[in-house]
Amino acid sequence: MTRVPLRPALTDLPPYVPGARVPVGAAAFKLSSNENPYPPLPSVVLAISDAAEDVNRYPDMYATELTEAIAASLGVTPENVVAGCGSVAVLGHVLTAVCQPDDEVVLPWRSFEAYPIAVTLAGAQGVRVPVGADGRLDLEAMSAAITPRTKAVLVCTPNNPTGPAVRADELDAFLAAVPKDVLVVLDEAYVEFVRDPQAADGLALFARHSNVVLLRTFSKAFGLAGLRVGYAVARPRLASGIRAASTPFGVSHIGQLAALASLRATPELMTRVEAIVAERSRLLAGLRAQGWTVPDSEANFVWLPLEDQATAFADRCARGGVLVRPFQGDGVRVSVGEPEATDLLLEVAAEWLAR
Ligand SMILES: *Cc1c(COP(=O)(O)O)cnc(C)c1O
Repeated sequence: MTRVPLRPALTDLPPYVPGARVPVGAAAFKLSSNENPYPPLPSVVLAISDAAEDVNRYPDMYATELTEAIAASLGVTPENVVAGCGSVAVLGHVLTAVCQPDDEVVLPWRSFEAYPIAVTLAGAQGVRVPVGADGRLDLEAMSAAITPRTKAVLVCTPNNPTGPAVRADELDAFLAAVPKDVLVVLDEAYVEFVRDPQAADGLALFARHSNVVLLRTFSKAFGLAGLRVGYAVARPRLASGIRAASTPFGVSHIGQLAALASLRATPELMTRVEAIVAERSRLLAGLRAQGWTVPDSEANFVWLPLEDQATAFADRCARGGVLVRPFQGDGVRVSVGEPEATDLLLEVAAEWLAR
């Protein structure tokens, strides 16, 4: 039978495995996708319902008001900001803007599971550099992996799923070593949760290095995962390239207005982030007191390096009423959620060690 051939690269593409969802009618805490456990603020719900009245029209293609508000909040210009349908989509546009077939993209591994997919779909080859046993990116090995074919390097800080953030001194040395024509993508999806004073400051690096692009999102700290709004911060020439590679009308009108309302409610939302950070400390301390080895986390999740026991542990958690995200062979990522969910997770974790 003659069939339409698919791109060979798709055959080897690892699937994106979504975090387990709570089955309809069941009671469980969803700690499997690094979502914000808090529902949207009333002011955000109002913006969403108001925006619903205009959905017969296409959205503002350039998300003008949102782009201006983001730029003002970061101290950059609107020319520097490119919004898209979640930062995962924006990453795809960034790579499409710079990669051609056979180009290479250096990425840490294990890291965000969307990376190998985005790289392959952009037509490039991913070059994976192992993350250390302490869950930290090995930036020296990453810069050593750069070849004349390298077009971009992905730096996930804090690293999903292991947790640590890249330190300022490490990133300074790395950026000094990377050729100026290689794009460095700093994925700062969890930047609002970072408390380590030594962590790298992406915005300051963006100001100093013309090859640095930041990726940020409204999905995590701002609690809008369901509406798909993320953005890149880039120099104007790169930003226009990313815009040129973007899906037209990629951010819905509802998403634009919800993100705008969330930015306006930043102080209230950051109070929630502070509570999640405190809950993270309680979860980390509880696990370590039980005897678990857990890397430091600067994000809204913690990492249990359970290797081949990952799936078994996740199944045990599910029976205990908490859904977590296993990466069989590597470990289990547990998102920080409601305090009751922390209590349940700590119970299951203690039982696991005592089994
Ligand atoms: C969650 C996450 C994102 C954000 O994805 P959106 O598409 O904006 O929801 C980006 N990068 C990393 C590393 C993440 O974990």
